[in-house]
Amino acid sequence: MSGPFSRYRLAIIVALLLLAGIVVNAGLYYQQGSQDIRHGIVEQGLPLTGDTIFSEIDKSILRPLSVASLMANDTFLLDWLKEGERAPDRVARYLAAINGRYGITGSFLVSESTHRYYYAGGVLKTVSPADREDRWYFHSRQTKQAYDIALDEDMTNGGKTTLFINHRMLDGKGKLLGVIGVGLPQMELSAQLAAHEQRFQRRIYFIDQNGRIVLDSSGAAPRKLAEQPGLGDLASAILAGGAEPQKLEYSRDGNRYLLTSRLLPELGWHLLVEQNETRALQPLHAALQINLAINTAILLLVLIAVVATLQHHQQRMRQMATTDPLTGCLNRLAFMELLPGWLRACQRASAEPQLLMIDIDHFKQVNDKHGHQVGDQVLREIAELLRTQLRGGDLLIRWGGEEFVALVTSHGEDDALAERLRNIVARHVMNASGQALTITISIGLCQWLPPETLEAAVARADLALYAAKQGGRNRVSHAQPYQPIDEPVA
Ligand code: GH3
Ligand code: MG
Ligand code: MG
Repeated sequence: MSGPFSRYRLAIIVALLLLAGIVVNAGLYYQQGSQDIRHGIVEQGLPLTGDTIFSEIDKSILRPLSVASLMANDTFLLDWLKEGERAPDRVARYLAAINGRYGITGSFLVSESTHRYYYAGGVLKTVSPADREDRWYFHSRQTKQAYDIALDEDMTNGGKTTLFINHRMLDGKGKLLGVIGVGLPQMELSAQLAAHEQRFQRRIYFIDQNGRIVLDSSGAAPRKLAEQPGLGDLASAILAGGAEPQKLEYSRDGNRYLLTSRLLPELGWHLLVEQNETRALQPLHAALQINLAINTAILLLVLIAVVATLQHHQQRMRQMATTDPLTGCLNRLAFMELLPGWLRACQRASAEPQLLMIDIDHFKQVNDKHGHQVGDQVLREIAELLRTQLRGGDLLIRWGGEEFVALVTSHGEDDALAERLRNIVARHVMNASGQALTITISIGLCQWLPPETLEAAVARADLALYAAKQGGRNRVSHAQPYQPIDEPVA
């Protein structure tokens, strides 16, 4: 890494580690959360819903089934059939009394010997194998089971789609006397399922042994499970399943569904309860996103704070490394760093560098007379005074103990600035522990014209300063002009 990256390498590494931690943590949280949700759905939610529906179905369908079974074994009806079906109004009244109980709407009896179809209103018709509408009877009379269940239109009830429980009536020798049964309007069963679906937020439906969805909340006509999107592959597993709930899953339209299926032996139907897992995981997704957003925001804030602190410290360290702590002037090291850029700027401005070597007069006496602390104060105040006269682009360097160098731009050998500096210091009255104290400075001034080296210019300025001291101090002295070594001296 280079440039700004190396400076913030530690911050970047720490941020990446924290970010990795946040992501791994969020991933684990999500994994655990989704496992818990899934487990809750498969092991508890779906089976419990199945149990509830099972007991509801017990009321809605199995009770009417036992009514049909009781009717099929009712000696009054069996005797009535055996004895030639006299006074049909008695059976009509019997059937009418059944209607209205347990949601039963279309109780009926079909006699095997006369093929008469009795209902609450009397004789509806005579069933015939040739009539499509009557085929159910000729199927029911042949079945091996005691009863069968079929969806059909109820002609005694406005042709409404009805779930018929058709129960065979046998005499003591097992001879078929007829088929008796009850009807349950499909609409009402569907409405019950819709209410359960609403309550449990799960889809509930039934398939028969032929793999058709016979009952669901939509009240639609029976349709093949195998043709339902996503469910096709599960159809045979569901039909092969028994009364013990089996756990299945499938995908449809980008959503994952969890499903339990169990056989209801009395009906020969399979009860299916399913839940959209993708939707169930949505709150977790949202929580995960919020979690990531908050953690990332905190990370960013921490990072900003760390980078700002680092920058501040670096700035301070840089300042400490380049600035004289007592006077706030540049130290020599910083000066050497700045010099090339400063010279280029000077050249661009078509100006000449002027070097002022400034030395405090009799400074040793100040220390001796007033103490080192006052000496330090004098150094600080003089640096401050010098600064007030310099411009932004000028450089003020603490060159030695009580020596300063000012590097300024000039146009020609002009000592106006040097005089101003000398004057402002000489006029300034300092407070040395309650005593008034005036200080003077001497200045050696030299026009520095590279290619002359800095050292050579400083040496010339030093000589000028020496001359100023010799001349009585508190004065400005001009250096001898620059003499290139290889130039023959005139
Ligand atoms: P001159 O006029 O010839 O320059 O005489 P001077 O006394 O100023 O010169 P000299 O070089 O003899 O003394 C410089 C003194 O500056 C000696 C030293 O103790 C003092 N000095 C140097 N640095 C510091 C400082 O940081 N603080 C204080 N208080 N005194 C310092
Ligand atoms: Mg000195
Ligand atoms: Mg001095």
